[in-house]
Amino acid sequence: MHVIRLKPGRQKSLQRRHPWVFSGAIDDVSGTPSSGETVRISDSQGDFIAWGAYSPNSKIRARVWSWIEADIIGEEFFVQRLEGALRLRNILLPIEKTNAMRLVHAESDGLPGLIVDRYSDVIVLQALSSGIEHWKNVLADLIMDLTNAQWLFERSDAAVRKLEGLENRTGVLRSHSLPAASFLPLIEIFEGDLNYWVNVQQGQKTGFYLDQRANRTRIGELSKGRHVLDCFSYTGGFSMSAAKGGAESITAIESSSESLDLLKQNLDLNGLPADNNSLIEGDVFQVLRKFRDGARKFEMIILDPPKFAPTRSQIESAARGYKDINLLALKLLRPGGLLATFSCSGGISVDLFQKILAGAALDAGRDAMIVERFFQDVDHPMALNFPEGSYLKGFMIQV
Ligand code: SAH
Repeated sequence: MHVIRLKPGRQKSLQRRHPWVFSGAIDDVSGTPSSGETVRISDSQGDFIAWGAYSPNSKIRARVWSWIEADIIGEEFFVQRLEGALRLRNILLPIEKTNAMRLVHAESDGLPGLIVDRYSDVIVLQALSSGIEHWKNVLADLIMDLTNAQWLFERSDAAVRKLEGLENRTGVLRSHSLPAASFLPLIEIFEGDLNYWVNVQQGQKTGFYLDQRANRTRIGELSKGRHVLDCFSYTGGFSMSAAKGGAESITAIESSSESLDLLKQNLDLNGLPADNNSLIEGDVFQVLRKFRDGARKFEMIILDPPKFAPTRSQIESAARGYKDINLLALKLLRPGGLLATFSCSGGISVDLFQKILAGAALDAGRDAMIVERFFQDVDHPMALNFPEGSYLKGFMIQV
């Protein structure tokens, strides 16, 4: 058995059940565990704290599987964890509501580094840690058994793989119904009374922004009769719910032409009118300036940018980016207009985001108030011992 022994006093965060062991906290490693192998984590006295997965290349040298000494990390253990995660989704998001959801949200579901998203009968898996990579085949078989999926597609192409010393990998992992081709068609999903095409092979994240589901619905409810501007639209999550909700017009701005093509196909799929929509391929920072100079006005604006601050060192430049687009957006709103503004940067706290928005409103010369708060949807829970699991924040602001 391989053992990681911590330095004196460095067991505290683990005792509070934070699931990461940083390399600096380790006194010694006995044996030579390979990447992803299970290690016993003990305090400086040798007393058991947890079982974890070893990651020789990462600053996060181990991630905890279990705090119970009697647990055996293996198939039965993973069945329990996966079943727990699936049970929760069955309760929170019954199938009548949608057939697209996050089934496993990594650390928060007790499976550090594992993302599992369902899109109809296709499942997409992301292995983001050495431990998950090590157990991937076992997990793939279990996921197929427990979900009755037809396809399991791997999208282990996130930047964090590099920190774990893992190469990117994408492709079909398991398939029941079809030959294991290297190409998957677009998957059609439904969410409430809307349908969407999802490109699980090349789309962003695993193909769709599942975390914005509840916020999409809410914005749809508030869009009736408004001229809506959807910035960073991707394939139109917000545009579609606003159009369905009776928006007067939709203007979407997105830098990726493939995403805009899919947005167009999504409108067609739902029989939503194409003529009063304008889809602009461009840079939000530039297009908003052009709109400002042309005195364009809207009654609802959505700002859902990509992560401006993937790491802590980028917080300052990220804050400038957030302020810039929010300031511009506030200027484009008619009195009484609504701004739904988001940040998915883990490094930008709710408090900091609120301060940035206050600064933007001040500089824009607009009186503004927060009328609603937004978070990631219920299929992205946050374990109380793992605050990093909460990343998406947003506000609805009225001017
Ligand atoms: N609102 C979307 C998700 C947005 S993700 C939804 O709910 O589905 C962020 C999007 O912004 C991506 O599609 C990315 O291609 C796009 N993007 C990134 N930088 C951009 C920029 N400067 N201008 C316009 N689009 C940008």
